Amino acid sequence: MPEIIVKPASLKELWKTLPALGKARRYLAGGTDIVTADNAGAESSECWVDISDLPELGAIKETARALFIGSGVKISAIENSAPARRWCPALIAAIPHFASPSLRNMATLGGNAANGSPCADGVCALVAEGAFVHLAHNGKKRCLPLKDLFLGPKRTALEKDELITAFEVPKTKHFGAYLKLGPRAYFGISKAAVAVSLEMSGKTVKRASIALGSVAPVPFYAVKTSAWLAGKPLSSEVVLAAAALVMTEVSPITDSRSEADYRREMCGVLLERALKSVCR
Ligand SMILES: Cc1cc2nc3c(=O)[nH]c(=O)nc-3n(C[C@H](O)[C@H](O)[C@H](O)COP(=O)(O)OP(=O)(O)OC[C@H]3O[C@@H](n4cnc5c(N)ncnc54)[C@H](O)[C@@H]3O)c2cc1C
Repeated sequence: MPEIIVKPASLKELWKTLPALGKARRYLAGGTDIVTADNAGAESSECWVDISDLPELGAIKETARALFIGSGVKISAIENSAPARRWCPALIAAIPHFASPSLRNMATLGGNAANGSPCADGVCALVAEGAFVHLAHNGKKRCLPLKDLFLGPKRTALEKDELITAFEVPKTKHFGAYLKLGPRAYFGISKAAVAVSLEMSGKTVKRASIALGSVAPVPFYAVKTSAWLAGKPLSSEVVLAAAALVMTEVSPITDSRSEADYRREMCGVLLERALKSVCR
């Protein structure tokens, strides 16, 4: 645990407080990653800046064109949000696969993204949802497609002290699915995960967006398979061909959780099942 933990009451107070703190500082949201790292001796900050109650990060807001999910909203609150259930079906499908109910009462999407893990379930689903991420640092703000935030395992495009403020999901009527293969049915880091968002026109795919977790250095957007599916009827042949194509796009590794070849094959199996669930 660092010696200093500060808890600003607003964003304005946060920007005023930061310059006076030691340089080795990090944000603390739900604490489920950072406290775990600290317990394992892998966290050496002098100071944590507790952002868990910042009102500016804690709401889900709807405009005519998009849904904005504050970075500090707890995963369990997203699960219970009617607008999120309506506009983010892939994200909602991912939530039962996300840790346990008690963890979901603490964990945030902001922490899930900032941690930069290729296995992050919330992030993988949001990439499939075509989400944008809003960032702020003092007076400066910027917005990126979420898929562009990730540079490598545990590496993001976040600059020093830059804060994730919200995720923006465009409001489009679409189907969503999320399937995760882990060490057991629930509660575990994935060997592979697939998130699918599909806009349909009758039985034809109008727009497809496919993201995968744990099978590339970053939460991976499957550009080729997503583009290939657009304009095609969702027939059994098309589903099988998409499953074969996605296996050529991913770049899994062998590690303590699984083997590269198995992971690659499971990407095809999970995508096939996810697409079939949409057909039904
Ligand atoms: C037992 C266990 C099981 C888990 N299971 C899963 C799982 O199934 N799926 C999954 O995806 N994850 C899982 N996790 C990982 C973790 O719960 C998630 O990554 C969670 O979303 C992290 O959010 P947090 O609010 O707790 O982040 P914190 O631990 O508070 O922060 C994580 C990192 O993000 C930074 N940060 C936090 N918020 C912001 C922000 N708004 N802007 C900039 N930087 C920020 C912090 O400085 C820190 O570096 C699990 C963790 C544990 C301990």
